[in-house]
Amino acid sequence: MLLLEVQSLESGYKILKVLWGIDLYVKPKERVILLGVNGAGKTTLLKTIMGLLKIFNGKIYFEGKDITHLRTDKRVKLGIAYMSEIGIFPNLTVDENLELGAFFLDKKLTNQRKQQMYEYFQDLLKHKKALAGSLSGGQRKMLGIAKLLMSNPKLVVLDEPSNGLSPKFVKSIINILDDLQNKEQFSILIAEQNIAFLDFAQRGYVIDNGKVVVSGNLSDLKLNDIVRKAYFGIE
Ligand code: ATP
Repeated sequence: MLLLEVQSLESGYKILKVLWGIDLYVKPKERVILLGVNGAGKTTLLKTIMGLLKIFNGKIYFEGKDITHLRTDKRVKLGIAYMSEIGIFPNLTVDENLELGAFFLDKKLTNQRKQQMYEYFQDLLKHKKALAGSLSGGQRKMLGIAKLLMSNPKLVVLDEPSNGLSPKFVKSIINILDDLQNKEQFSILIAEQNIAFLDFAQRGYVIDNGKVVVSGNLSDLKLNDIVRKAYFGIE
């Protein structure tokens, strides 16, 4: 069964339609990347999948269940976790940020999960009581990822995690995601413009002007002219 299925999705902002009939799916344990230039509609698509934007038309299914009109918090409870480009609450401590990621778990489960996150991210443990806003850019991303995983998600939805990070740190984010996915077996849907992620994903979609213009396995996409022009500067 597909984990996530998006059918003929149309959405946008008030009366402005941004997405024009998107079809997309994610299988269990799969890593899927959304490619596309600034303004193509990647963030709009991820927000619509999370229920943060009103859907104009189309359907969204999660594990076969129709979630098209489900509230965001209920989608999180079903197992979809989202990290926006901001990802964290700077005025809350590291510990408080983690707790928010598991808003629907009881205290015991929240604490267990927090322990797990502090084992994965030992640097965060050292800054447990620090305000998230006082962390370095890299540490904030780590916190964003740890917060995301607090809810034990089946699908992790990431909006440009590489944004603002140095190439070295982008590599370490990729390694961390790789390692955590092997441990926890979630699927990943990621919007990224950084080509370092092309080898991380198994399948991808290129979005342009709110439509899917190309999709397929990464090995095929890398040979596609549109992708080569946009990402490798090859004419
Ligand atoms: P980026 O990498 O820059 O975030 P993107 O592919 O994620 O690009 P979106 O942020 O989804 O693109 O933007 C798609 C379109 O929607 C753009 O034309 C943008 O101007 C418009 N848009 C985005 N946010 C809003 C908003 N809050 N209100 C109105 N229009 C918006």
